[in-house]
Parts: sequence; C-alpha cells; structure tokens
Amino acid sequence: ITSNRPVLAIEGLTVSFDGFKAVDNLNLYVDRNEVRVVIGPNGAGKTTVLDLICGKTAATSGSIQFKDIELTKMKEHEIVRAGVGRKFQTPSIYESLTVFENLEMSFPRGRKVFGALTFERTADVVERVERVAAEIFLSELLHQQADLLSHGQKQWLEIGMLLMQEPELLMLDEPVAGMSVSEREKTAELLGRISQGRSVVVIEHDMEFVKSIAHKVTVLHQGKILAEGSMESVQANPKVIEVYLGH
Ligand code: ADP
Repeated sequence: ITSNRPVLAIEGLTVSFDGFKAVDNLNLYVDRNEVRVVIGPNGAGKTTVLDLICGKTAATSGSIQFKDIELTKMKEHEIVRAGVGRKFQTPSIYESLTVFENLEMSFPRGRKVFGALTFERTADVVERVERVAAEIFLSELLHQQADLLSHGQKQWLEIGMLLMQEPELLMLDEPVAGMSVSEREKTAELLGRISQGRSVVVIEHDMEFVKSIAHKVTVLHQGKILAEGSMESVQANPKVIEVYLGH
C-alpha cells in the first residue's frame, strides 16, 4: 500500500528543561524515500529532536507519529522494534568482533544476551549480513576484526548494524565527521541508496556534504524552524544568513 502520508509526522513537539524550551512547538514531516538534513547553530535543538524521536528524551507536549504509531509514550527499545534506527556520532561497534559478527549480532533475533552469542547462524541471517555488508562497502572485510577498520569503515559498520534491523526511519548524527574525502563521497552515495524505501534524517554541519545528500533541509534555531526547503532556498534565506553570520 502506498500512501501520501509522511512516514514521520511531528506536531507541536515541545520539551522544556527547567522552563527552557530546547524544542519549541515543532512541526516536522518527513516522507518515504527522503533524505532530510537538519542544520542549525550549536544549541539549536537538533540533537534533542532526535533524542525525542528515539525515546531517549521524553516530550513535554506534542506528538510524534511514525506511520500509524505514536512514539511519545513508547520506550526506546519499543521504538527500535517499531522500525526506527539511530546512529550517534561516535561509533559503538564491538571492536573485538569481526564485521560479520557485529552485523550478525544486530539481527533482530540475534540479540546478544549477557555477552554471549547464543543464536544459530541460520541462512537468513547470513544472507542479510552479506547483503548489508555489500551495501556498506565491507564485503571484502567481513572477517576482519572491527578494531582494524578505518574510522570511516567503523561508521559504515554502525550504519550496517542499523540496517540489519530493517528500519524504515534512520537517524544519523554527523555521519561523516572525521571521514576522508573519498569516504564522504561514498557515504553520500550510501545515504542516497538507503533512503530508497526509507526515510533518513541527518544532522550535519558540513554544508558541502549537506548539499550532496539533502532532498530537503530544515534549519533549526532556538528550538524552532527558521527555514525549510531546498538547500538553495535556505542558503538564500536572509534569516538563515543572519543566524549563521551572527554566530
Ligand atoms: P544542537 O544539537 O542543535 O547543538 P541540542 O539539542 O544539543 O542542540 O541542545 C539544545 C539546547 O537544549 C541547548 O541549549 C542545550 O544546552 C539544552 N539541553 C539539551 N539537553 C538538555 C538536558 N537534558 N537538560 C538541560 N538542557 C538541555
């Protein structure tokens, strides 16, 4: 069933920390097949928005609809299971395990319990690991220990670990921080590919990279949307220019 409704519909979202509104009555809609980039100066509320979506922070008011599911009352692990994946800035892979094992462990029923890998390596797990490894440019390194990967490859592995759970919404916090130029280009290609059939929300500071990936840009400032639209339109917006120059 195809629907014109956005995959993610955020309405009136507000969170106050001791009376300070870090996110202030935010409305945000993200479609399927869309790469949305959220930009804005430090303290604008970008990270807090992602924290609210993934259930790390509780909203003061407002709603977050993901497909037909209201996320604001759900726990973090329930939100993951509903199909929302979040990647933080620093990779949180298992350095002593191989690429294969890191991916395998992220297979939904392959959850690690008390440090032990206690599930069977069934054909469907292997098939998905190989498919995801190919997506993240790591097919040749499946049996390499993760600590030997480059910083960029570790970032891709973490994206792969999210893809193992087949999320419909992926959220990435500065995915190219610390990457080489060629790794950045490959990451742009990767994000374009993984947005097909999914929604991807990215926080990013590198404007060249934003330009290369964004279907639409949302500019946050003081917890509110300052501008939204194509990269060209927000870059030409006097309010956006003022906020960035004034910083
Ligand atoms: P950005 O990611 O755009 O740099 P953040 O979302 O990290 O901005 O922060 C927005 C504002 O909310 C900042 O002023 C920050 O200090 C504040 N803030 C974020 N989380 C908390 C918290 N848990 N308690 C108090 N203030 C917070």
